[in-house]
Amino acid sequence: MIIKTKFIIHSSWYLLALLLVYSLSQDYFPSLLPSLSFFNALLLGILATLLLFVSVFLHELAHALYAWHKGLKVESITLFFFGGLAHIEEEQLAPSTEIILALVGPLVSISLGLIFLIVQRVALSLPLWHLLGYIAEVNLLLGSFNLLPALPLDGGRIFYGLLRLKFPLQKSLRMATVLSKAIALLLATAGILDMFSILNLPASGLWLFLLGGFLYLLGETNEQHMTLQHALAHKTIGSLLPPMTRVDESTPLADVPDNATAILTTKKGKITGMVDVALLKRVRRRLLRIPPNHDTIGRLRIPLERLDHADITDDAMKTLNRLLRSSKPGIIIRQGKRIKGVITKEGVMRKV
Ligand SMILES: [Zn+2]
Repeated sequence: MIIKTKFIIHSSWYLLALLLVYSLSQDYFPSLLPSLSFFNALLLGILATLLLFVSVFLHELAHALYAWHKGLKVESITLFFFGGLAHIEEEQLAPSTEIILALVGPLVSISLGLIFLIVQRVALSLPLWHLLGYIAEVNLLLGSFNLLPALPLDGGRIFYGLLRLKFPLQKSLRMATVLSKAIALLLATAGILDMFSILNLPASGLWLFLLGGFLYLLGETNEQHMTLQHALAHKTIGSLLPPMTRVDESTPLADVPDNATAILTTKKGKITGMVDVALLKRVRRRLLRIPPNHDTIGRLRIPLERLDHADITDDAMKTLNRLLRSSKPGIIIRQGKRIKGVITKEGVMRKV
């Protein structure tokens, strides 16, 4: 088996790592060990940050290992600071696969937490004891937080998988989404109540509020993505082609129909490229200026060579994902050598 997985460290990671090293070595460890030297505190802070990084990585690796074991393609593993994301090229997974795939991550985190707690018992020095305690705590927190039954957290996926054992797909997604939003709102509300001292929680109120809000937004995006995925399951990209407007390159902009959703340009009857409809609208609203005697549709043409290409029988979801991830504005859809139409980013966004 050839494994083609990209490992990505998200750019925010470095900044947050510096912040964590700083707060651990200036604040957390010195408060536990007042006699700690500056250098040793810094060393502990760096070690703790690195161990946290390895812990998050092992959590994601567990997801990836199970996916590989199941013959699924893992496109990338991205490490954010307090978590990661294993991007698995998923068709609709069987519920049992979905459940185990989600479960292995938190299991690894919780096991790591317990292992660090055991190792802590034989720690040779007090600083080491605190370091191991900290990492154990973080791993237990990481594992249990991810088990919250809110999508897109692991716990949400487990819950969604369990629902699917009993209910149809759409209904399962709806139920899982309702619970996810409720949990996110509950966290945010608890955070606000704590900030105004109406509740007294052991966690920081502001932090809970941000976490709840973030979880809510993540849940929304995830719902859209999953709805789209369900709608597109087993469809070809050809079945989604919008009506095509063909316009000769020499046509004045003013003569191009207003309601065109996808425009292909032609020259002597041959297709030469496409026009980004969003760009056309900006020109029309005079947000972009073009000299009056040059204002033909050809001026806005994106030549065929600068576009991606796909076949009419290609899988809809995969092709759309390809489009959204690429820097190119559209994908030309062909049937053999014949051009059947174009799918643009703008068009996709409007449909979602
Ligand atoms: Zn996970």
